[in-house]
Amino acid sequence: MKPVIALVGRPNVGKSTLFNRMTKSRDAIVADFAGLTRDRHYGDGRLGNREFIVIDTGGFEPDSTTGIVKEMAKQTRQAVAEADAVIFVVDVRLGLSAHDSDIARYLRQANKRVFVAINKAEGMSESPLLAEFHELGMGEPHPISAAHGQGIRSLLEAVLEPFEFDEDEEEASGAPDGVIRLAVAGRPNVGKSTLINTWLGEERLVAFDMPGTTRDAISVDFERNGQQFKLIDTAGLRRKGKVFEAIEKFSVVKTLQAIADANVVLLLLDATQGVSDQDAHIAGYILESGRAVVLAVNKWDAVDSYQREQLQRSIEQRLAFMKFAPIHNISALKRQGLGPLWGALADAYSSAYKKMTTPVLTRLIQEAVEHQTPKRSGHFRPKLRYAHQGGMNPPLVIVHGNSLEGVTEVYKRYLEGRIRAHYKLVGTPMRIEMRSSK
Ligand code: GDP
Ligand code: GDP
Repeated sequence: MKPVIALVGRPNVGKSTLFNRMTKSRDAIVADFAGLTRDRHYGDGRLGNREFIVIDTGGFEPDSTTGIVKEMAKQTRQAVAEADAVIFVVDVRLGLSAHDSDIARYLRQANKRVFVAINKAEGMSESPLLAEFHELGMGEPHPISAAHGQGIRSLLEAVLEPFEFDEDEEEASGAPDGVIRLAVAGRPNVGKSTLINTWLGEERLVAFDMPGTTRDAISVDFERNGQQFKLIDTAGLRRKGKVFEAIEKFSVVKTLQAIADANVVLLLLDATQGVSDQDAHIAGYILESGRAVVLAVNKWDAVDSYQREQLQRSIEQRLAFMKFAPIHNISALKRQGLGPLWGALADAYSSAYKKMTTPVLTRLIQEAVEHQTPKRSGHFRPKLRYAHQGGMNPPLVIVHGNSLEGVTEVYKRYLEGRIRAHYKLVGTPMRIEMRSSK
């Protein structure tokens, strides 16, 4: 599970700047979940091969009734509760303030690992101004400059030091051991708990006891139609005697962690609500993570034919980037349409881990070119020679040849379509990379 780092501090000390720095660092996957929670931003960050989640509390707007101090306290509390470690950001130019001391007092009794980051300290590594912050009594403060990217690596090294990370990146995304690591994702009230409870209440579903340790997510192993599944907690799974039940408690952090940990995601939509910004945010995040995905439109029982048509259109428009995902209309409550989901999840899984050989890929590429040659770009016409598989989950096809810079996005999609059709790839994104030899 990815560790979660919260950024706290009073307004204007540079939390958002630091957040952007941490999430947009080299090869970081960025996901802004502003659409999910109005007041807190969540992002993925990476230091080398160590991945983590960052929560920023900078975006809240205090309303006149609660006032800034109260609102700040509330946001800080919630972010800290979700975090494994806290970066407490202060501003060297303003020095310690009463607000800082309040936050420090709160953090001390919150019982989390806290790191003090003295921001805006560019060119000040020896400055006597830094000394003041020792008074906080929260370990050696780290002078940083969020704006100039100074001191951030060593700060993150310290924060991430006690966490264990998978050495093998392949492992982290779920090695193909035949077990489908399934996350059920969706915004609050789409019916995640209802679906999971329906599943776990079925006799034919054999659930194995899988108590989680503190940092592990709780998960439930079960078998269906001879296929093994590991259901990763997103909805707050609880053990109730011998059975598991899902209780409704939406958590962005849990959702992000579960998607990262899954190899197939079942994304639930609510037929009565259409596709919302929140749905599109979650879908975008799943896509960026490269996970296989099946879409299920829940509460199908509760909509008439007019609403169904509207819905179809809004899925086509707003989730156009997920055309590869099969769509199932279901009712978790009435137990309708649930059977075919199992096959769809299994197909998405096997598509994500499909093995493609060089001779077959090369033949597919050559046939595609014979059928439609790529357009000339500048002086040269791209020459596609052969292709090999560069990775799985999602499948990556690397095409070799000359002048391949000239291959258009449209042509790449055309190639993708032919490869997908041949291998019957459904429910997984796929990537095509062009590699020219001069
Ligand atoms: P937040 O309210 O804590 O999220 O603070 P912001 O990230 O919005 O930053 C507040 C102001 O401080 C902005 O004008 C930033 O450009 C500036 N700032 C942030 N980091 C640095 C830094 O490292 N050095 C300097 N000089 N200014 C910074
Ligand atoms: P979660 O927040 O995603 O876990 O959503 P819940 O499972 O708690 O469901 C939210 C509400 O939607 C509850 O009142 C459910 O009874 C209702 N609901 C869930 N599935 C269906 C369904 O298939 N049809 C209808 N009509 N209502 C449903």
